[in-house]
Amino acid sequence: ATPTAVMVATGVGAKHGVLIKGGDALERAQKVNYVIFDKTGTLTQGKATVTTAKVFTGMDRGEFLRLVASAEASSEHPLAKAVVEYARHFHFFEPSETKDSQKNDKDSGWLLDASDFIAVPGRGVQCSVDGKHVLIGNRKLVTENGMAIPKHIEKFLVELEEGAQTGVLVACDDVLVGALGVADPLKREAAVVIEGLCKMGIRPVMVTGDNWRTAQAVAKEVGIHDVRAEVMPAGKAEVVRSFQSNGSVVAMVGDGINDSPALAAADVGMAIGAGTDVAIEAADYVLMRSNLEDVITAIDLSKKTFSRIR
Ligand code: ADP
Ligand code: MG
Repeated sequence: ATPTAVMVATGVGAKHGVLIKGGDALERAQKVNYVIFDKTGTLTQGKATVTTAKVFTGMDRGEFLRLVASAEASSEHPLAKAVVEYARHFHFFEPSETKDSQKNDKDSGWLLDASDFIAVPGRGVQCSVDGKHVLIGNRKLVTENGMAIPKHIEKFLVELEEGAQTGVLVACDDVLVGALGVADPLKREAAVVIEGLCKMGIRPVMVTGDNWRTAQAVAKEVGIHDVRAEVMPAGKAEVVRSFQSNGSVVAMVGDGINDSPALAAADVGMAIGAGTDVAIEAADYVLMRSNLEDVITAIDLSKKTFSRIR
């Protein structure tokens, strides 16, 4: 294509909110065989909502939620935001016997001080709240800290996961005190876009740090057959390379900090506009509308631009 054609395509892209960082990226997109999608915030809305919270011990429900929110308040993860929101709502709106004057005083004083906060990649968070050691995250986080997951809790998790939800476990001083179920609905256009890619002869793949059962339930809903789950942050780039190693041209679509190595490794990295700055920087394309239809817009634009000159 002539420099003019590339300029025109860049302009057309911009009109759709598809920002293209250079002619090379524009040219590579026409050859894409695989599009690898991150799950959370890319295929899903990233607006996670707590659907259920269960306390397994004698701990008061309000105290349980306050503990959870206090620990998650320092996390940027979509799951953490959902949990804090739920706890805040419970604290300020649920009638409670332990009602105190702070209830009407928005946000002040209801969270406990958390210290020694650590985000454990692919697992969750750990910190100290009120002198208690708190762990919030998935099975791995709990078992790697020497705790076993009893049958009734495992059953609770499996039920959530089969319903495409993520189970979040909460441990306090080495005791599993409760768990939450978090749902994150698919984007409205997700299934149509997957179908569209298949019709173009492009294979969709889903990659996620979430557990296998949830991942497969979500993939089934959206129509993706090739799933890679329980992938550590660094592993997403490995997945991209494994597809490239058989000569395929790979696009990666993602929104998170976790996705940025994979976005950089892909032949065509596409960042969701609503995603993190780190992802946007690592990508060749930015989909400003955060609409997955623009994955197809971008590929079409490349095909049109580079077929015109043949
Ligand atoms: P992804 O965003 O693809 O799910 P992550 O590596 O961010 O991948 O997270 C992997 C898993 O670790 C999550 O599905 C969740 O189970 C757990 N996790 C991560 N961060 C948190 C958090 N702040 N609170 C609870 N669980 C978390
Ligand atoms: Mg994500």
